Amino acid sequence: MTVALLPPTTRSAVDLDIVALAEGPRFVRTRGMSRWHRPRTGVRYPHGRTVYGCWCGYGIGGSEKAEQFLAADEPPAGEPVCGTCEGRAAGAGQDDSPTGRALIFQPRDIVPPKNCPGSRRSLYEALTGGRVGRCLVCGATEPLRAMGGPYNSRYAIVQHPPGNALVQPCPFHRWRQLTARNGRVLCDCGRETTP
Ligand SMILES: [Zn+2]
Ligand SMILES: [Zn+2]
Ligand SMILES: [Zn+2]
Repeated sequence: MTVALLPPTTRSAVDLDIVALAEGPRFVRTRGMSRWHRPRTGVRYPHGRTVYGCWCGYGIGGSEKAEQFLAADEPPAGEPVCGTCEGRAAGAGQDDSPTGRALIFQPRDIVPPKNCPGSRRSLYEALTGGRVGRCLVCGATEPLRAMGGPYNSRYAIVQHPPGNALVQPCPFHRWRQLTARNGRVLCDCGRETTP
């Protein structure tokens, strides 16, 4: 049994051969740990090394030797579980609430932004007449305006809410670092985005 993992968002550069995992085990720990933790994110490095980022902040996997790493659907009876991991995982909707009460935990950087990340940028395709453009980030058709000062004016698409074809975000940098190459939008790190 696996659970859906959240994207491993970061402000740092991430090499292209590092892969964000969409699914992971429900509980993990190393043999040396006194309790089980729950993975929030998973990242696979070249040569098969995998690290799970847990809800409480622990990173498990990676440098540990394979025989030190344990995963379980359900911890053996009597073995304790990290309270931070259990509460946050349920609050974010990754698993059922252990108490039956509605728990809330809202991780940052997950929901789409209120304004399209293509707003006030040149990530558009000009349409006939040149007064409106199709936003390459979200598909919306919006007016174009001259922006910037008198010495560096440029045309950009106006600020707008995301259209209904917002691109899938980079698993690491979300919609923060989008750029265009040959009329296609991708993340600055080189990862492709798909509509
Ligand atoms: Zn934990
Ligand atoms: Zn847009
Ligand atoms: Zn990226």
